[in-house]
Amino acid sequence: MSREEVASPERRAAAVAEALVEQGAVPDASLDSLAAVEERLDWRNGARVVAKAWTDPDYKARLLSDGTAACAELGFEGPQGEYIVVVEDTPDCKNLIVCTQCSCTAWPVLGLPPDWYKSPAYRARVVREPRRVLREMGLDLAPRVAVKVWDTTAETRFVVLPLRPEGSEGWSEDQLAAIVTRESMIGVARVTLPA
Ligand code: FE
Repeated sequence: MSREEVASPERRAAAVAEALVEQGAVPDASLDSLAAVEERLDWRNGARVVAKAWTDPDYKARLLSDGTAACAELGFEGPQGEYIVVVEDTPDCKNLIVCTQCSCTAWPVLGLPPDWYKSPAYRARVVREPRRVLREMGLDLAPRVAVKVWDTTAETRFVVLPLRPEGSEGWSEDQLAAIVTRESMIGVARVTLPA
């Protein structure tokens, strides 16, 4: 097998689309809908899921027992979202997601992966020295906090349910969704209140 650098998923998808149209295999119009699908893949969807889980205990229970179904309840489903597994942060345990093989994420709720997540450095180091990588990314964990690293695959797309920050009591779902970040759902950051 070749060890050459592989182009990004976006570039590969564009090349496939171009070839299909050129050969007349698909009409242009059906590819427009593919572009629309990509636009729907937004980590802000995940922020809505987290905010709902923080404010609705029944929803949170459903989310933790069947992530795929609970995300679909809010309309977030589709390619690379078939096997969503949600892991919950606690004061004593920090969850962290990586795809050591490539760059899998749960597209419907995390969107396409950010560049740092795809980097060989993150993928290799976060398994060996997660605390150090987290510290470099600005998250200093107390020694008593355990770190769990989850290796996402094609069949388990992990998403972190971060801790709800102190001081956000009584906030609406919309307010909460606005402070959830993509990084917090990958597990490399906490959710904090705006300064
Ligand atoms: Fe992957």
